[in-house]
Amino acid sequence: MSNSAETTSKRPLRVAIVGAGPAGVYAADILTKSNEVKDGDFEVSIDLFEAYPAPYGLIRYGVAPDHPRIKGIVNALHKVLDRGDIRFLGNVTYGRDLQLHDIRALYDAVIFSTGAVKDADLNVPGVELAGSFGGADFVSWYDGHPDVPREWPLEAKEIAVIGNGNVALDVARMLVKHADELLTTEIPDNVYQTLKGSPVTDVHVFGRRGPAQVKFTPLELRELSHAKDVDIVLYPEDFEFDEASEEAIRSNNQIKTMVNTMTNWLVEEHAESEAPSSRRLHLHFLHSPVEIHDADGNTSGSGHVAGIKFERMQLDGTGHVKGTGDFIDYPVQAVYRAIGYHGSPLDELEYDEENGVIPNEGGRVLDAAGKPVPGVYATGWIKRGPVGLIGHTKGDALETIGCLLEDRLTLPRAPNPDPQAIIDLLEERGVEYTTWEGWNRLDAHEEALGAAWTEEKSDTGVVRQRVKVVPREDMIRISRDSTG
Ligand code: NAP
Repeated sequence: MSNSAETTSKRPLRVAIVGAGPAGVYAADILTKSNEVKDGDFEVSIDLFEAYPAPYGLIRYGVAPDHPRIKGIVNALHKVLDRGDIRFLGNVTYGRDLQLHDIRALYDAVIFSTGAVKDADLNVPGVELAGSFGGADFVSWYDGHPDVPREWPLEAKEIAVIGNGNVALDVARMLVKHADELLTTEIPDNVYQTLKGSPVTDVHVFGRRGPAQVKFTPLELRELSHAKDVDIVLYPEDFEFDEASEEAIRSNNQIKTMVNTMTNWLVEEHAESEAPSSRRLHLHFLHSPVEIHDADGNTSGSGHVAGIKFERMQLDGTGHVKGTGDFIDYPVQAVYRAIGYHGSPLDELEYDEENGVIPNEGGRVLDAAGKPVPGVYATGWIKRGPVGLIGHTKGDALETIGCLLEDRLTLPRAPNPDPQAIIDLLEERGVEYTTWEGWNRLDAHEEALGAAWTEEKSDTGVVRQRVKVVPREDMIRISRDSTG
């Protein structure tokens, strides 16, 4: 390949994007549609890498299966990748199959959009006991993540979920809902079978602050009340509001809606005369976790979770809380912590452990000295931390792509920009990469499984759109089998 100044200035800018969740797809889309590209100022050629054999990241492996709104987002992302101007390369793991120096040899710029998939740490004694779980791990299990065990021990009758974000609500709803209600979703069969056998009767969600300080959103809250044969239980003593809470209710429509919803449930619950449901979802506030313990009160060792102790909190006037010195213990046989996600470090890049992000300035990745690393960018949760809804990553991508466009004339130019070079490299290394055509095959296969299930169980009247393929090797085989 010639490397003369003339050839390099005219050839398309080669860009690698690592992570094909919403953040990566939005970045690719925004770059291809930028004015500079549209006006013919320069061309781009993008490869979108993904560690899983399938695209969509946390949409496929992080969103609860009973969230119909997500379907719309998948359709939008599908349209972008189906245009054919962004090349998808799945089942390629950065740091294992591909290093930064490989990328630098083949691409002029790289954008990391690897997200945040791990549970944030909960630092209370007993968190390591058997029966104490990370919410993100449970989400991965029920979403059929290829790299987590197929089995999940659903043996508890009473369960605590810690946290007041949307993940806590997802986890609690999936734990308390009757499995048959999930049959119309894409849950894998092993998940359905395990949920079906769950003996759960009571799921308790604990927020450390008050009802006006929750992080979840109105739609997700209301969704709780749609679960059949599940009563929602609230506690009047949790519904005290300080000045900051009153102000939040006045000035923030979302908070107002949610406080109203919960207050109405509280009133209805006390007026209730119907027969009680077989399962209950309790929403507790002003409970800060202190320790998880086994039946003997131990917080370490080989015992199993038998209870969780909280300190009762009170609002301090500013929307924060302080301890009251009163403690309360709940008998539970499982604890799920859903207190936020955390990013993971990436080979050959600096990492901010406290915030779980790659240090960056507006998306330009920084080195140890705080200087931008030429040609290296970040977007999405690995850029700004695991907060915000899916749509918010668009704003992130706009900012990051803005930086890349600003820098484009000074980017280090890759010595080997031939698009075939990465394919040769992956094949040489024996990486069983998957493609967009491969994803379309797997997608069609999962839909066919859904149709076959629907046909076989036609007497139930349940229609399953899709049944997810879970094992990684099966996903790869179906994706790569162009004869099927
Ligand atoms: P989140 O929204 O940041 O909520 C974390 C929750 O954990 C907060 O209530 C926080 O309380 C609590 N917490 C943190 N540390 C704690 C501790 N040590 N002890 C007790 N409680 C603690 O995180 P998330 O639920 O993981 O959600 C991440 C993002 O994904 C959010 O933007 C969320 O909206 C989004 N998401 C959206 C959907 C959806 O749209 N359906 C579904 C899933 C996730 P404090 O407020 O007191 O810190």
